[in-house]
Order: sequence, then C-alpha cells, then structure tokens
Amino acid sequence: MINLNSITNAPYPRLVVDLKKLRHNIDVVLSNCNKANISVCGAIKGFNGLPEAVKQFAEAGCSQLGTSRMRTIKELTMLGIDAKYLLLRVPMLSEVEDVVEYADVSLNSDIEVIRALNDAAAKAEKLHEVIIMADLGDLREGFWDKEELVNCAEIIEKELDNIVLKGVGTNLGCYGSIKPTVEKMNELILIAELVEERIGRRLEIISGGATSSYTLVLNQSMPERINHLRIGEGILNDYDLPEIWGLNIENMYQDVLTFEAEVIEVRNKPTHPVGEICIDSFGRKPEYIDRGIRKRVLLAAGKLDFALNDKIFPQKEGVEVIGSSSDHMILDIEDSKEEIKVGDIVTFNVSYPSMMYMSNDKYVNVIYK
Ligand SMILES: *Cc1c(COP(=O)(O)O)cnc(C)c1O
Repeated sequence: MINLNSITNAPYPRLVVDLKKLRHNIDVVLSNCNKANISVCGAIKGFNGLPEAVKQFAEAGCSQLGTSRMRTIKELTMLGIDAKYLLLRVPMLSEVEDVVEYADVSLNSDIEVIRALNDAAAKAEKLHEVIIMADLGDLREGFWDKEELVNCAEIIEKELDNIVLKGVGTNLGCYGSIKPTVEKMNELILIAELVEERIGRRLEIISGGATSSYTLVLNQSMPERINHLRIGEGILNDYDLPEIWGLNIENMYQDVLTFEAEVIEVRNKPTHPVGEICIDSFGRKPEYIDRGIRKRVLLAAGKLDFALNDKIFPQKEGVEVIGSSSDHMILDIEDSKEEIKVGDIVTFNVSYPSMMYMSNDKYVNVIYK
C-alpha cells in the first residue's frame, strides 16, 4: 500500500501563516476585551485549527478555543494541545459522546440534545458545560421563544445532574446579517436576568456574539454585563471593520495569512472572449468587458483552493484578479510596473472566507513563519 501522506505536494500554492503577526493580533484583541471585563473564546475554525496557529491562541490566554467541528477538537486533543475547547455549532445528536469527551463547553439550542449530552456525560462520569443560545433575529441557531429558553434553563438546573449551565449567548451577523447593537445586547442581558430569576443564581457567562459584536467593544458601547465574546475574524483578518463599521484598526496586521501561487503562463490576450458566449465552468454566464488586448498571467491555483476569486487580494500594485475556474486563476498585469514571468510567485492577502478553504485543502501547503 502506498502511504498517501508520503506524497509530497508541489511547493505551491501555499498558505503562509505568520505566527508573530498572529500573536500580535490576538494580544491586541484580548487586551481590548479584557479592559472591558470580557473574556474571549478564540475562534479557530477560520483556519481549520492549524495546530501551530492554535497554540498561539492557547498561549495568549483565550478563555476557550472554539470551533464548529468536533473533528478539529478531537485532532487537536490528540496532538496534545491542551486547552479548554468550546463547540461553536450546536451539537448533532449523533456526536454527543464525542462532545462530552473532547469539548469542555458547547453552545446549545435544543433540550433533546442537551438531555442526550447529559446521558452521555453521566455515562462518561463527566460534567459538561453549556451556554444556551437565544436567537435575537439573525435566524440561525437559538431559542426564538424566551419562555422556552427559560424553561430549558430550569430543566438543566434542576434535572440534569451532569450538565452545568454556564450562561446564555447569542449570535448575530451570520445568516440574517443583523447588526449587533446596544439594544440587541440589552435584550440578551434581559434574557439572562429572566433565567437568573427562575434558577435563583447569577449566570457566569453572557456571551454577546462574534467579531461583529466586538465592534461594540471597540467603540466602547458594550453594556457591562456582556462578559464573553467568541472572536475569530476580528483577530485573523478584520480588513472590513473600517469600511463597514468606521473603526480604526491601524494596530492590526491584515497579512497574518497570505496565499502564494505560481505563474504558469504570461501572454497578451483579448479581454473579451472570442466566439459565441455560452456558460463558464461553474455553469454561470458572466459579463465580460472589452478592454482590448492586455497582458495577463495564468496562475496554478483556482476556486478549489480559495472558492471566491474576489475575496483574495494581490499584494502587488497594478495586479488585478479577473477570473478563475477550479484550478486556474487569471490576473490582469497590464498596469503592473514590475515584470512578471513564468515561475514567479504572486502573493495575496486573503479574506476570512478564503482562508477557511485554503487551510482545508490538501493541495495547499501550509508554511509557518
Ligand atoms: C464562527 C462563530 C463565531 C466566530 O465568528 P467570527 O466572525 O469569526 O468572530 C462565534 N460564534 C459562533 C456560534 C460561530 O459559529
């Protein structure tokens, strides 16, 4: 049998992770949050839990490390990366045994699943911590009915001996694009207070959301009782915070992760396809603008590696992404002052969504520096 792990990849494309810059960004976010008495779950799913990067989150003092996939938590545990792990996606019924074995805390929105976690935890003679989620309008996970949430909290508190109710949380700005505001945070605090009234004790955690909620820390308007956030994007790449939120992020690196791909063709070609236009390799019918003959580069990397060609950004001035298919990317380099030739490497800053694909791609080499 051939061991597939021993097949060495071509050196490119590669994803370069700068651990010093990563650590700097983590430290800045932790310091901002800690000043506001907020502990931070470092969300490591954006780069699929690449171990060396995960270590930086653990060493920097994140209260937990969070990811949506149990498999990542299991792998990191097996690699010996010791941390408190938080499962960000509400558990599947079929994975509760793994959840209680490998995750310390999970976000939850279903009493049947929580009961199953309790049974699994009892069997494993463990305690499992939960944060119950309230849906405040973004329409992904979470209880919609407040009474149902409070009842769930009461059941956990009074009946489920192996589940520890740590607190309540919410998630915004994911499916429904809902903006985290002071009002939404106050709504969550109100829900926490309803739970506290019912169970007769104070909750330890009120988890106000993800990077989008971190913006309230940056503009110093986060209500006091919010004491926990789950942050990934805001650490790894927050280039859209100034644009969308008007926030200053000058002290943050935008190139913690960079993508490098190799040039396989350089040629002058027309900008408008020649012949009868039908559909592209993804079954779509894009618009093409005729800009005459221009100098273009073909790279050996494609949608399989980064999914969205408009979400990765060439570092060189005058280099523009004009399209891609599964395994190729086309750049316009007509306005580039530097010469680019076959065999050269083109470097990109990457968005949060593209790093998710790249870090999960067996064709991309991951390099730490
Ligand atoms: C992904 C995720 C986060 C982290 O989101 P970022 O935008 O990367 O900060 C937080 N909470 C939940 C429930 C998530 O799924």
